[in-house]
Amino acid sequence: MSSDPASTSSLDTALLFDAVDLISRTGAHRHVDRTVPAPAREAGGIAMQVPEGQDIAVEAELESVVEGIYVHGTVTAHLDGECSRCLDPVEQDVTARLNELFMFPEKVKADEREDSTLLEDEAVNLGPLVRDALAMEADERPLCREDCPGLCGQCGFRMEDDPDHHHDVIDDRFAALQGLFEDESKNEEA
Ligand SMILES: [Zn+2]
Ligand SMILES: [Zn+2]
Repeated sequence: MSSDPASTSSLDTALLFDAVDLISRTGAHRHVDRTVPAPAREAGGIAMQVPEGQDIAVEAELESVVEGIYVHGTVTAHLDGECSRCLDPVEQDVTARLNELFMFPEKVKADEREDSTLLEDEAVNLGPLVRDALAMEADERPLCREDCPGLCGQCGFRMEDDPDHHHDVIDDRFAALQGLFEDESKNEEA
């Protein structure tokens, strides 16, 4: 009976809006408001994504125009990912604009179809639109803070934990070990 929200793996089905009532009624419009659970993270996708199952809130106006249905509105979501320097968790609140004209397929020439967004069976599919809008707003190189010192290039030590961390260049093979000894002696002093 109940549908598992986690099984909503695709925004394309969750954000499909029927526009039958608007077609051929130029000037007519309808407000839509829908919150859907985020699908599974795209492996190897962009750095900042909406965690699976978390809300993606879409609010838009569907407007009937001569060429098709014009959609404008916003999508709001909370993204998370990792700092591109130190791998600490990073969060980002995003509100992105939606702006798209869904054309009647019969009004688009065959050679222009690839570059056009088309109505599908008298419905507008906001899934791809929402995905692109979130990706556009997402930080490409997220940082936990502007001046994050990152990780030591030699041993991966979090530089934030000890800004004086460094390696006296003796031998690369011992560099990592030396870092460990330095930490231990510090703990003993404390
Ligand atoms: Zn960081
Ligand atoms: Zn180091």
